[in-house]
Amino acid sequence: MATYEYLCGRCGPFDVKSAVGEAPAVYDCPVCARAARRLYSAPGLSLTSSASAALREREERSREAPAVVSEVPPRTGPESGPKRPPHPPLPRP
Ligand SMILES: [Zn+2]
Repeated sequence: MATYEYLCGRCGPFDVKSAVGEAPAVYDCPVCARAARRLYSAPGLSLTSSASAALREREERSREAPAVVSEVPPRTGPESGPKRPPHPPLPRP
């Protein structure tokens, strides 16, 4: 099933669910029964990569219901990151 949009000259746009490829070019308006012509619009395709979309979705979800942790997550992988201290100690007199 797909949703097709039609425009009635008197009542305005309305949607009709129909099988893909079987939507007629003209459909009777459900309100006034006049013939309404089909509208063609751009499909809802996304130009965003799936990784970016997943990150954005996670960030938006986090605004309303942030993930709560009870402890620091365990360190994974080999020890990495800056050494502590990041430079050798200064010579002492
Ligand atoms: Zn109408």
